[in-house]
Amino acid sequence: MRFELTLLGTNSALPAHGRFPSAQALQVQGNIYLADCGEGAQMRMRAFGIRESRIGQVFISHLHGDHIYGLIGWLTSQSLNNRTAPLDIFAPHGLEEIIRVQLRYAGPLTFPLAFHTIDPDTHGRIFEDKLIEVWTLPLKHRIPTCGFLFREKERPRNIRPECIEAYDIPYQAIPGIKGGADFRPPNGRLIPNAELTVAPPRPHSYAYCSDTAYHEPLIPLIEGVDLLYHESTFCEAQSAQAAETGHSTARQAANIARQAGVGRLLLGHYSSRYQDLSPFLEEARAVFPNTELGVDGGVWEVGGQRI
Ligand SMILES: [Zn+2]
Ligand SMILES: [Zn+2]
Repeated sequence: MRFELTLLGTNSALPAHGRFPSAQALQVQGNIYLADCGEGAQMRMRAFGIRESRIGQVFISHLHGDHIYGLIGWLTSQSLNNRTAPLDIFAPHGLEEIIRVQLRYAGPLTFPLAFHTIDPDTHGRIFEDKLIEVWTLPLKHRIPTCGFLFREKERPRNIRPECIEAYDIPYQAIPGIKGGADFRPPNGRLIPNAELTVAPPRPHSYAYCSDTAYHEPLIPLIEGVDLLYHESTFCEAQSAQAAETGHSTARQAANIARQAGVGRLLLGHYSSRYQDLSPFLEEARAVFPNTELGVDGGVWEVGGQRI
C-alpha cells in the first residue's frame, strides 16, 4: 500500500534559507492527510505535486502561527477552485474561532467545513477510515500541543491466486477466506485457511512530533514506529534555549528515537539561526545512526527509504 510522507515545510517560526514553516502531506493510497499548515503551505503543495482535492482531513498540532497561518489561504483557494468535497479539521480548542472570524468577514466557502476539537493532553484515537487510524500524542510545549500517530490498519490476508483455480473457489467465498475462513470444495476435504492465503504485509506507522521539549512520556506511545519526525529546533550548544522555549535539540530527538526503537528518524523544525544543517545530522547520528535531515520537498516511504 502506498504510504508516503512529503515534507512541505521544515523551518520553525518563519521562512528562511529556502525552508518554509511546518506542513506535511501524508499520502495513503489515494487519500491525502495534511498535518499542520504553516504559511505558504499551498505554494509548497503546488510545487511538490500534492493533489489538494485528495485532502479530506487536516490535523493541527497547536495554534502557534508557524503551524496554522497557511490554513485560511489554502481554504480560500480551495473555495476559489470550487471544491465541493467536505473537509474535516482536527485541532485544539481555539482554531475554529480563528478561522470562523476570518470567514465571517471574507464570505462562505464552497464546501462543508467541520471542526473537531481535540484534547492535546490525552493520548487517544481521534480519526479512522478504511485505511488508517490517527492518534494524538501529548507533547510538552508552551501552549497545548500534540503530535499525531498515523497507523495503517491491518489488512485482510491475501488469497493465493493459484488456489482459486485449483479448488474452484466461487467469487462469493473470497471475502470470507480473506477474513480467515477455511474452504471445503464440493465433495472435497476441508482446506485450512493457511493453505489458501498469505499474510498481508505488516502495517506501517508514522509519528509526527511537531513542537516539544525533550519529553520521555512520548516514548511508549511511539514505540517501534517505522518513521518518526521529531522536531529539532536547536543543536545541543543551545540546549538552554531549547528548554526555555519548549523545543528539543537534535541530540534529544535522537535520544527519543533510540529509546522508542523507531525505524528511522527525520529531523526538522529548524531554527532560522542555522543555515547549514550538517551539525544537526552529526549530533543526532552519534546517538541514533538511522537519522536523516528532513528537507522541504523530501518524500519518504513510511516503511522504507527516501523516494
Ligand atoms: Zn513551531
Ligand atoms: Zn510552537
